[in-house]
Amino acid sequence: MKCWTRRGFGCLARATCIAALVPRVANSQVRARVVVIGGGAGGATVAKYLAASAPTIEVTLIEPKARYTTCFFSNLYLAGLRSLESLTHGYETLAQRYGVTVVHDSVMAIDPVGKTVALESGAKLPYDRVVLAPGIAFKYDTIEGYDETATQTMPHAWNAGPQTRLLRQQLESMEDGGVFVVVAPSDPFRCPPGPYERASLVAYYFKQYKPRAKILILDAKDSFFEQDLFQDAWNRHYPGMIEWLPAQFTGGVKAVDVSGRSVKTASETFPAAVANIIPPQMAGQLAQRAGLADGTGWCPVDPLTFESKLQPGIHVVGDATSAGAMPKSAFVANSQAKVCAFVIAAALTGSERPAPHLFNTCFTFLAADDAVSDAITFEPTAETIKISDILISTVSENADTRRRAVRQAEGWYAAFTHDLFG
Ligand SMILES: Cc1cc2nc3c(=O)[nH]c(=O)nc-3n(C[C@H](O)[C@H](O)[C@H](O)COP(=O)(O)OP(=O)(O)OC[C@H]3O[C@@H](n4cnc5c(N)ncnc54)[C@H](O)[C@@H]3O)c2cc1C
Repeated sequence: MKCWTRRGFGCLARATCIAALVPRVANSQVRARVVVIGGGAGGATVAKYLAASAPTIEVTLIEPKARYTTCFFSNLYLAGLRSLESLTHGYETLAQRYGVTVVHDSVMAIDPVGKTVALESGAKLPYDRVVLAPGIAFKYDTIEGYDETATQTMPHAWNAGPQTRLLRQQLESMEDGGVFVVVAPSDPFRCPPGPYERASLVAYYFKQYKPRAKILILDAKDSFFEQDLFQDAWNRHYPGMIEWLPAQFTGGVKAVDVSGRSVKTASETFPAAVANIIPPQMAGQLAQRAGLADGTGWCPVDPLTFESKLQPGIHVVGDATSAGAMPKSAFVANSQAKVCAFVIAAALTGSERPAPHLFNTCFTFLAADDAVSDAITFEPTAETIKISDILISTVSENADTRRRAVRQAEGWYAAFTHDLFG
């Protein structure tokens, strides 16, 4: 198994640690080297598909975490319907079955001229192509009083793992009759239905264990994705429990008082027994530092190759991209990653480059036995990525259809995570 950890490096002298990587690089002079940064939905897919489709390429995946917890389905954990363990995946199969070299470390910088990436441990890895899939970072300066320290009291839980566990603990210890405040961010952000799915599934939990509790959504927007489906479900499953306040009513969230546990909008201050602040977002920090993000905070990419428009030779996939009409979802990250992997394989091995196919399929839970879905096909052109076909559940669907969607969603999770990590 080719799997290094930063801790592993730490028990050796620094020079030895770096040397541990170098022989591998030196031995592989005839093999093209691709470094993939970030082992989430996008990065794991690029690494796996590149290693599987072009065994002559040496693929190295850099990811700080030993195990990855999926954001997708994490709202089910908040509802008490899944364990966090069942949402957590390792990199062993990528290493053992596909021959991906997995390095548990963080990339601090990319040198596009010298074609190396610098790791936190001090090592430098040379590359022929580099792919960045760092996910998102939060714009902490946009809500007064909300910074990284504040996330320990008012979690965002928008990266899954310890933040999700903290939010679940707070919901469990919240008194019946308390108000759970969800602050929903401005567009574009990771998983457009996510905040509203979270409100639905926390309401499902409250309905059983804290029936007097309320949920207040303070939105930075005046409408949201699948709004009719959510509002119909809230009326049917949780009447009187969920209140949604659009920005036009409140003037938007301006500040939080972490010690006083309240959220302040332009017009009013709302006390919160539990506050889930999901701040506005941008491409992950490394993308910002490497000059891959533009003034929007996201990384513009060539729609056909996912090569950066700002730094030629560097590819970006997943949530960090600004990719036309594509939403920020794991399915989209996976779909972009496959296109990117085949483009790189073709460039480095001379293999045929298949036409790009880009899709999104997303299941959203409204209750334990009520789920909806959307399926979108995209058309990439030289300039942008447009929607070519879209199919979304309707309010008129019957309970059987919704129950079937729950079963399909469970099957999707198993198949999809197998596609990423298995
Ligand atoms: C509550 C919620 C529900 C969701 N539900 C769904 C759903 O049902 N379906 C769906 O398709 N999507 C869903 N999503 C969205 C999905 O989780 C994201 O779109 C997806 O994870 C994006 O993949 P990514 O690879 O771009 O980023 P990530 O999956 O976040 O991976 C980024 C990785 O990069 C690593 N990294 C960052 N910086 C560095 C660095 N400097 N060096 C090395 N590694 C680095 C990070 O550690 C991380 O593991 C949901 C999201 C949330 C929050």
